[in-house]
Amino acid sequence: MDALPNSTAARDVAYLLHPYTNARAHERDGPIVIAKGEGIHLWDDAGNKYIEAMSGLWSVGLGFSEKRLVEAAYKQLQILPYSHTFTHKAHEPSVELAEMLVKMTPDGLDRVHFTNSGSEANDTVVKMVWFYNNAIGRPEKKKFISRLNGYHGITIASGSLTGLPANHRGFDLPLPQMKHVTTPHHYRFAEEGETEEEFSTRLAEELEAKILEEGPETVAAFIGEPVIGAGGVLVPPAGYWPKVQAVCRKYDVLVVADEVINGFGRTGKMFACETYDIQPDVLVLSKQITSSYQPLAAIVFSDKIYQGIADGSEALGTFGHGFTTSGHPVATAVGVENIKIIQERDLVSNAAKVGDVMRGELAKYADHPLVGEVRGVGLIAACELVADKATKAKFDPVGKVGMSVFKAGHEHGVILRATGDSVCFCPPLITTEEQAVDIVARFGKALEDVRKALGR
Ligand code: PMP
Repeated sequence: MDALPNSTAARDVAYLLHPYTNARAHERDGPIVIAKGEGIHLWDDAGNKYIEAMSGLWSVGLGFSEKRLVEAAYKQLQILPYSHTFTHKAHEPSVELAEMLVKMTPDGLDRVHFTNSGSEANDTVVKMVWFYNNAIGRPEKKKFISRLNGYHGITIASGSLTGLPANHRGFDLPLPQMKHVTTPHHYRFAEEGETEEEFSTRLAEELEAKILEEGPETVAAFIGEPVIGAGGVLVPPAGYWPKVQAVCRKYDVLVVADEVINGFGRTGKMFACETYDIQPDVLVLSKQITSSYQPLAAIVFSDKIYQGIADGSEALGTFGHGFTTSGHPVATAVGVENIKIIQERDLVSNAAKVGDVMRGELAKYADHPLVGEVRGVGLIAACELVADKATKAKFDPVGKVGMSVFKAGHEHGVILRATGDSVCFCPPLITTEEQAVDIVARFGKALEDVRKALGR
């Protein structure tokens, strides 16, 4: 790294430990300093322009220059920059957003609890469910089942729900109450000739066997992302959610839909639960709820759970959980404005339409020598790169080729993401058809650079 001594890059390396970053590699290579954003574009401090085809971390739905969100924050900062929601205090923005969420989310979700991040939200879901089951007199019903490759965050409980080795390795996780089942990735895990429906049936049977093995009286909830995001954009095989949900109902296991990435239009419907016919007991939202202009997450849940917790607060004592900034007035005011914009501009339909174009362009790479599978729904997609198309053999080591495409993308002015060797696409909801074509063309150039470098 040869940055000037007082540059942002040099000071960054001197003072910060970055999240999700190899610290020694960072000392060596330094950061890309992002200096400004506009629309779906970012600029680094050297003046290079990029299309942010990952919406930051799958989250900046309205892009990087939505003035109405800035104004909503400024207005709220002037009226009431902070107030809390502990001990019977309320403020209008949090109430307005809660009301909006209850009205717009699928039927059966009647109450809202706010946190600041997706991880906090999923941690809170675990605690809410534990409190609920204690309150209704079944204290042994505490286990959560999630999927390998699923992502639910990085706190102690949410990190345990996450099914990725990097989030467990080195952290003494998962907690013993958290169990994992096979990921619904047909391309990788279906048996020879197994249809999507058959594969889904097998996974539902596996879930049932797991519940029976653990004891149904000990299993509280099943949590999953309708479409797995950080685990490599895994679209569920046909029939998966209805089959899995039926198993959960049979054993009185709550269904938690983690729509931290999927929510607010990403799959071409407002919520992925609509796309996949899921009737969750708990819905978890974050990221695009404010287009990440403010940190915020929401847990939207059933009246049944609410009543149990409310009764429990009398029987067990107050629901002793909450953050200083739970339901922060500025964050919730920005959330309200953000959702109004998504609705007014019908950005959900835009995501569906532009997503069709983006996935159509990506499908043209299905025959590329490095591409094993192209998959996606709405405005979220991935290309899984493989060493051998016929055998689906992975590259060794996994992740190196994906990282090369990611880096080559920068050279071609596009920010993508590689999860292992799956290159992911998740551009802002405001992306146009022309921009979607451009994103895939730039990816294509990056892919070609890597193919040539590999000598394929
Ligand atoms: N759930 C899902 C589905 C996510 O994708 C993420 C973040 N990528 C989280 C939870 C955790 O959210 P956060 O990073 O805000 O803690």
